[in-house]
Amino acid sequence: AKAAGRNCLRIFDEAMREKIQLRVRLASDLRTALKAEQLSVHYQPIIDLFSGQVIKAEALLRWEHPELGQVSPEVFIPIAEETGAIHEIGNWVFREAARVAMQWNHQELTEDSVLRRISVNRSPRQFFTREGCDDWLAHLHDQGIPGEVLGVEITEGLLLDDRPDVMRQLTAFRSAGIAISLDDFGTGYSALSYLKKFDIDYLKIDRSFVQDIVSTEGSRAIVESIASMAVRLGMQVIAEGVEEPAQAEVLTAIGCRLAQGYLYARPMPEQAFMAFAAAEIET
Ligand code: C2E
Ligand code: CA
Ligand code: CA
Ligand code: CA
Repeated sequence: AKAAGRNCLRIFDEAMREKIQLRVRLASDLRTALKAEQLSVHYQPIIDLFSGQVIKAEALLRWEHPELGQVSPEVFIPIAEETGAIHEIGNWVFREAARVAMQWNHQELTEDSVLRRISVNRSPRQFFTREGCDDWLAHLHDQGIPGEVLGVEITEGLLLDDRPDVMRQLTAFRSAGIAISLDDFGTGYSALSYLKKFDIDYLKIDRSFVQDIVSTEGSRAIVESIASMAVRLGMQVIAEGVEEPAQAEVLTAIGCRLAQGYLYARPMPEQAFMAFAAAEIET
């Protein structure tokens, strides 16, 4: 039994070591990934369920590793945050999204057309620098890009930290016309009190609630409550991870107007996204 125990430990050690080695390797490879053009930005449409139109999109980072193939952002974003690579990479994602958002809007801009936004995920780490939001805002200013074509997605944890500079940066983004989305809503601390302290434009209801909205009364009740609370607080709700028509039906019935998920489209490269968005709008 003792020997077996020792064996288990050895296997565990081995697995641990491999995991750590992979992280070290990814951390190192990530430093050159941007220059080596292994990174790309994909765009996932966000649909207005009432009109069927694509009114927004989310920018999502992709990494095609030369030997390992696609590495998930769930894996490499935390590494990029730890090593600090997130700053350079995140700035690049923002610039790409801004460029694509301008193209998307120019395609058929009429006088009363609503500006379509592309929102970009921003890690807490990206708020905790000396430059703060300056880099992003300076870029928009230099390029003459209106903030109204962009959004920033943040998570609850950022708001709970209560750092004065976070408030300043969020206010600066909003003053520039950039919308703020609260991501993965419902999965964090959900202290709710911060919702009246910060100006949030969109609540993104986490996929875990949407997943069993059809089968589970509890999830439906939660989403319904979030939707009505959001309306009263002047926010809009986006349902994440909509995969089935039945989920979309329930969402429409309980007044959740905006949806994102594989049912409509997966995240796509720039060209495919532009084609998809243009085709949708004609119907
Ligand atoms: P997120 O911000 O919650 O992004 C939504 C995730 O849900 C994306 O995963 C998207 O591909 C996935 N998704 C969309 N629709 C569906 C669906 O119907 N079903 C399922 N199962 N999944 C769906 P992805 O692209 O793997 O990104 C994972 C996370 O990585 C993101 O979660 C975000 O936290 C982070 N991330 C991605 N790109 C960036 C970035 O440029 N900057 C930062 N800071 N984080 C990023
Ligand atoms: Ca997001
Ligand atoms: Ca999310
Ligand atoms: Ca997430």
